[in-house]
Amino acid sequence: MTLALGTTAAVIHHNNYSGQGGGNIDFEITELLPQTGAYEISGSDDDNGENVESLLAVNSDEDIVQDTTDQTDGELNPELDAENPDIIAEEIAPALPAEDIAENYVETSLSYKVYRVKTGDTVGALAKDFGVTQDTIFSVNSNVITSAMSLRINSFLKIPSTSGVLYTVQKDGETLESICKKNNVETAKSEEANHITATEKLKNGTTVFLVGAKMDRGKLLELSGELFKKPLHSAYYISSRYGWRISPFDSSRRTHHGGVDMACPKGTSIYPTSEGKVITAGWSGIYGNYVIVQHHSGYKSLYGHMSQILCKKGDYVYTNNVIGKVGSTGQSTGPHLHFTIYKNDKAINPETKLAL
Ligand SMILES: [Zn+2]
Repeated sequence: MTLALGTTAAVIHHNNYSGQGGGNIDFEITELLPQTGAYEISGSDDDNGENVESLLAVNSDEDIVQDTTDQTDGELNPELDAENPDIIAEEIAPALPAEDIAENYVETSLSYKVYRVKTGDTVGALAKDFGVTQDTIFSVNSNVITSAMSLRINSFLKIPSTSGVLYTVQKDGETLESICKKNNVETAKSEEANHITATEKLKNGTTVFLVGAKMDRGKLLELSGELFKKPLHSAYYISSRYGWRISPFDSSRRTHHGGVDMACPKGTSIYPTSEGKVITAGWSGIYGNYVIVQHHSGYKSLYGHMSQILCKKGDYVYTNNVIGKVGSTGQSTGPHLHFTIYKNDKAINPETKLAL
């Protein structure tokens, strides 16, 4: 069996397709790009699916089935190994997870390339190569990319032909017009890309591609691995980690330590772990002089036992601004920074967010 240019490579059946119900999206191999390892595919509407000859039928809850249809009349693409059609099938199929496309995509005139991640790839470099923004790659592949630092080798990324981000309708009745306005982008391009009119009322959960839109800055910072930086830029050692420990003040008690203690000389500069707004700069019996900074995406961070506070409530601080100096104020046994990160007001282990 050979794979001809123009052959339909996969048919995605998506019964819970939101928007217009029960349609098919098929993907055509239109070009193979050997230099980059990318396959260009284009989605097109297919209302009844009757004309679709599938090479690979990808069913929403079944495994990939390879069609035995003999396709010998097409032009053989020299890049595809005709002797090993199974390999080709494997390369293409995982890039089109049925549940992903079925539930997250509205039919669109956009075309997508499928790219297989190689050693050394970064989202930044791929964005440059394909001429789209990093936001675009993060947004469209949010199920695959959890961090720019951990692009999985051999995982497949979808690369849209134009920059933009996916938006999921939050409540019935939102329109492309209202969504585009909220995201500061022109409606016309998104109308064309999504094949829907600006005023059409969309159902909750429908996902549309907003041409030219940018991702929420906090989300992008987090994904790009830049949301959290070390609060100390000079030498320290960790004197106590997050979690249960014997109380440093009463050895008969086990207490939960809600942060990480970073021991270093008194007077060492403290920087916010991420940019944000100072919401507290004051004194507590436990933390002594302390500061809380509110960040993007529901994160906050606390810095305790400072000898000196060098910011005030309401300041917007960046990761290169000194917000205080290390000390031993409050309940402390020696100079150190007590550092906590909160997600939605619940303390989390900072070491799950950055290497300390
Ligand atoms: Zn502590």
